Amino acid sequence: MRHLAVIPGDGIGKEVVDVGLEIIDAISEISSFDYDAELFDIGSERYLRTGELITEEDFDDLGKKDAIYFGAIGDPRVKPGILEKGILLNMRARFDQYINLRPVTSWHPFVPLKKHFDFDICFLRENTEDFYMGAGGTFRNGRDARVTVKRKLYDLQMDLHPVSSSDDEYAFEIGLLSRKGIERFADHAFRTAIKRGEDRITLVDKANVCTSIYGMQREIFEARSKEYGIALDYMYVDAMAMAMIVRPHTFGTVAVPNLFGDILTDLGAQLQGGLGMGASGNINPEGVSMFEPIHGSAPDIAGQGKANPIAAVLAAKMMLDQLGYEEMGTLIQNAVRKCLDDGKFTRDLGGTLTTAEAGIEIKKAVLAQK
Ligand code: ATP
Repeated sequence: MRHLAVIPGDGIGKEVVDVGLEIIDAISEISSFDYDAELFDIGSERYLRTGELITEEDFDDLGKKDAIYFGAIGDPRVKPGILEKGILLNMRARFDQYINLRPVTSWHPFVPLKKHFDFDICFLRENTEDFYMGAGGTFRNGRDARVTVKRKLYDLQMDLHPVSSSDDEYAFEIGLLSRKGIERFADHAFRTAIKRGEDRITLVDKANVCTSIYGMQREIFEARSKEYGIALDYMYVDAMAMAMIVRPHTFGTVAVPNLFGDILTDLGAQLQGGLGMGASGNINPEGVSMFEPIHGSAPDIAGQGKANPIAAVLAAKMMLDQLGYEEMGTLIQNAVRKCLDDGKFTRDLGGTLTTAEAGIEIKKAVLAQK
């Protein structure tokens, strides 16, 4: 018996998670997958009602689950950043979900490329380090430079742009990688490639410019490459952005640091047909992972039955995969493919179905595989 936490959240999050739960239910009907699901009231409504984002009690309860199934958060009534930082980023940090898993799969005919490529890229974005650690600040001509690192940056700035007036102002953001952080990231990347039956991985960076952090990353990945007996290809992030458009079919497992991963995986989302198709996992291979569609709460279409539920359904598939039920995950993937082939989808893809109707079709296609 697997124990799932469900956080539908806000806006279309609720609508697409409803569909995802129906699909998980269908899977449990036709397979050995047995589960219970506990609903958590976390999101803007509760925040506006009580001022609470996520409590220690929530964390305790969530920490006892096998996985978290998440919809979306976001609300025009709440200042941007409050819910994202207070809930989503907080949860990723608390459960140390250090890998962001973003598959990029071709779902023809929704691939917006002129050429027909079949691709199945597994993006692994490091989720805790790099330029997103929040290690930044501002200071004014040295007067506020209290710590060494700021001092150093100030000196550097002085060399680059000699300060003429006493009120010059600076801002900085540090990209930081740790040996331990890179090692666990690399281990997961090589293990993923092995699981996918691949003999090489691609590491994306900008080691020709950010030589310190990405130099260390290369050194560690190289050592791991020998240990695992899996080849390692390097791509600079700018070249990677181009390659994803002209030869997406040549990539399998791709490891990418946090900031570049944020950008490349959104490019990837468009390659598979848009926001309504992209799913993501925030993974802690040794702990509690969280699965979600990549889109937000989309207040503009919420409550109108317009949301494409496929991203959330594919997030449920990834959750089953992660829990060790890959065969059931494949049933979901097949069902989605069948609905797309048969023209049974929502309006964002050019179809006619509502969210619930699309869900019913996917469910039928799951059950048909019994
Ligand atoms: P948030 O701040 O919560 O991220 P947002 O509106 O900025 O919200 P998204 O929710 O990701 O960003 O959506 C951007 C646009 O994409 C929406 O306005 C909506 O029209 C469209 N969209 C997003 N998800 C879906 C979906 N599942 N189905 C159909 N359209 C979608």
